[in-house]
Amino acid sequence: MSDYDYDLFVIGAGSGGVRAGRLAAQLGKRVGVAEESLPGGTCVVRGCVPKKFLVYGADFGDAIRDAEGYGWSVDAATFEWSVLRDSIQKEVNRLSGIYSTILEKNGADLFRERAEFVDAHTLRLVESGKTVTAETILIAVGGSPWAPDLKGIQHTIVSDDIFHLPEQPKRMLIIGGGYIACEFAGVFAGLGTDVIQAYRGGRLLNGFDAEVRDEVGHLQLRNGIDLRFNISPTEIRRTEGGLIVSFDDGSKIGTDCVLMATGRRPKTDTLGVEAAGVKVDPNGAVQVDAYSRTSQPNIYAVGDVTNRVNLTPVAIREGAAFVETVFKDNPVAFDHDDIASAVFTRPPVGVCGMSEGDARRKYGDAVTVYTTQFRPMKNILAGNEHRCFMKVVTKGEEETVIGVHLVGDDSAEMIQMVGIAIKAKLTKADFDATCAVHPTIAEEIVTLKPREINKTTVVT
Ligand code: NDP
Repeated sequence: MSDYDYDLFVIGAGSGGVRAGRLAAQLGKRVGVAEESLPGGTCVVRGCVPKKFLVYGADFGDAIRDAEGYGWSVDAATFEWSVLRDSIQKEVNRLSGIYSTILEKNGADLFRERAEFVDAHTLRLVESGKTVTAETILIAVGGSPWAPDLKGIQHTIVSDDIFHLPEQPKRMLIIGGGYIACEFAGVFAGLGTDVIQAYRGGRLLNGFDAEVRDEVGHLQLRNGIDLRFNISPTEIRRTEGGLIVSFDDGSKIGTDCVLMATGRRPKTDTLGVEAAGVKVDPNGAVQVDAYSRTSQPNIYAVGDVTNRVNLTPVAIREGAAFVETVFKDNPVAFDHDDIASAVFTRPPVGVCGMSEGDARRKYGDAVTVYTTQFRPMKNILAGNEHRCFMKVVTKGEEETVIGVHLVGDDSAEMIQMVGIAIKAKLTKADFDATCAVHPTIAEEIVTLKPREINKTTVVT
């Protein structure tokens, strides 16, 4: 046994930290974990979980409207924000309790306070003033919302605040075109708020396949979201009638609530990483190798704090790989390729692998693209205008599937399954050899035809 207080000390009880802490404790290691907020991290407390409940909440509004086409009459459906908000918080607290229990039941010590580096093996627990030492330290502190330093920025909120809003805003302005902006625009529009989404670019969801980006623009419009492109806010003023936001094109928007969904940054600014000799990049992301090891050999980092692929399941896999590497003498580098993910717009987006643009830039003429677009059966009787879009990108004569892009009902569920096929490097012929399940949305994936303009199109 080493002279340190702990074999492993984990900073941050989020998805990655808890997985690593639990697995190490189960191996009989002496594990300490510090968490300044509720255990569970961004995903459970102020991210994926409460957000998905809001999405479900908004979807019920559509379901009620759609039901009329199926013969149901629904009188005077009303929505009460406080009921949904409080139900979500109750569930968040329950889940957070499970995260604490998981650690404690496996013998880890959970410190409900902030930890900061004193040196490469020593941490100060800020509230109690206690000092702990550890042979290995894992940084798993995640990230937090970031917003530009505009005049009046104190009048705005970030995604963390959404889950505690005292009232549902009548009008909401969302700044940003990424995941969080698109998801919350869909949620609040679905709940009955008048939503304006203002983005500095010309197409939502930067980095996604171009056709997906266009489809998401269309679905936001169909959901009643007022999209304003190519503008950036310059100032926010509070007036008696609400907030007035000025933009760089001279325009102004009046609203009740401004959500800054302008990105997230790793939470390393007050961690004291320099005292431990841990290098961070200009955005504050801890720099790690393929095994999540930092520039200080006994210190590792997983999850959003490393700004690799900022998704919960990735942090969990990185945490598990870290334990294999450090405590089981089995070096494992988590493979960050072909990670399936979803954007919970309404309906959602499901993506795995390369966009058409990236594929064409890398493989040129060796790329073949298959697409389809249709109105799903359920929406026809409902009079619901939402459509489904599907794209399969293949490469080479063998037509290995290297990208699948879905927009529409159940896309998030479908992409999890398709992700297996992509990871297994299956070909278009394998997809075609798979018999359809009828009548479903998913069956279209095994019956796709090449896009006619395929050879001539380069989509960025
Ligand atoms: P994103 O990077 O997705 O989006 C940030 C948006 O803010 C972009 O549209 C960006 O524009 C814009 N922006 C950045 N700086 C400024 C500025 N100074 N002024 C105006 N606009 C600006 O970040 P999110 O915070 O939405 O999400 C962070 C990450 O969290 C995601 O990348 C994802 O990894 C994860 N996440 C995953 C979810 C899921 O799996 N469903 C849900 C939510 C988050 P531009 O595009 O031009 O750079």
